[in-house]
Amino acid sequence: MRGIQDLNFKNIKNIFVRTDIDVAIDNETHEIETFRLDKSLKTLKYIIDNNAKPYIAGHMGKPQNNEESLSTNQLKPYFDKHLGENTYVLLENLKFDSREKQCDMQFAQELAKDMDAYVNESFATSHRSYTSIVELPQILPAYAGFRLQEEIQTLTNLLNNPTQPLIAIIGGAKIESKLPTINTMLKIADKVLVGGKIGLNWKESIDKNLILPIDYAENNLDIGQKTIDMYTTFIKDAKSIVWAGPMGLFEDKKYAKGTNAIAKTIAQSEAYSIIGGGDTINAVNQINLLDNMNFVSTGGSAMLEFIGSKSLVGILALENKS
Ligand code: ADP
Ligand code: MG
Repeated sequence: MRGIQDLNFKNIKNIFVRTDIDVAIDNETHEIETFRLDKSLKTLKYIIDNNAKPYIAGHMGKPQNNEESLSTNQLKPYFDKHLGENTYVLLENLKFDSREKQCDMQFAQELAKDMDAYVNESFATSHRSYTSIVELPQILPAYAGFRLQEEIQTLTNLLNNPTQPLIAIIGGAKIESKLPTINTMLKIADKVLVGGKIGLNWKESIDKNLILPIDYAENNLDIGQKTIDMYTTFIKDAKSIVWAGPMGLFEDKKYAKGTNAIAKTIAQSEAYSIIGGGDTINAVNQINLLDNMNFVSTGGSAMLEFIGSKSLVGILALENKS
């Protein structure tokens, strides 16, 4: 796989950059959650510094009828501020065209018009067979952005070469999306600690290293104190930690005790910590501990799928290029 550092900028003017711009925007204050945008800046600035123009392209939300609230126009002030006006082009929400989700070669050809190269800087979408993820790299010289490479490197290291003991903490609500990750982690981690709603799926553990909560609080909407204490002991002994999925319905303070306790213990630990998932990041951010994590993945489902299957369709699309 070629990285953007391998790109020879001679005769390169316009670069299509598939970017993670699917960010939350507050309805009232219009404040933007910029974490993912921030992580794309290194690649975008690198392109501009090499006298080429990045065409920033991505999707926001799930548009029904090209609604203004999902227009990428809202991101223009952010990119103007960080990249400078007129240094880039911001394309409209790719999902405003239904062909983005349909792996459509005709749409890919239209997007590729006037483009000299393609960069994937969209780890969070690389598990999706979208036109801009899997088709475009077939028709343009294709490269991985800096952040995408960092995500692959960090997670590959975790899978191949984790500093032991490795503890995985898996919570949240959707068992289907977490099960492949749990299965992979059972093979490489010392312990897989389960919390959240998915913990309720098992009556008893199916593997000696799969640790289930021993008590719950607040009608099963949070893990209980005994579980917090047990999990804290495991986390304190860990040398690497991967965490995806909150321990309870943390959006309500009443049920956030388990999630907050786990976040604090990881923050204080010397272990190398990787966290991912939109809700997990929000939970940790709410108590201002995001900076205490060693690596915060820009991908939620993408991170889990990478751990579960060791690659993603979008990454394979880059690797299959000569
Ligand atoms: P992430 O976005 O970090 O991948 P998920 O989307 O899988 O995590 O799950 C997060 C959601 O799970 C949160 O909305 C949280 O409130 C909910 N949740 C966690 N534990 C419980 C529980 N015990 N009962 C109900 N909802 C829960
Ligand atoms: Mg979620």
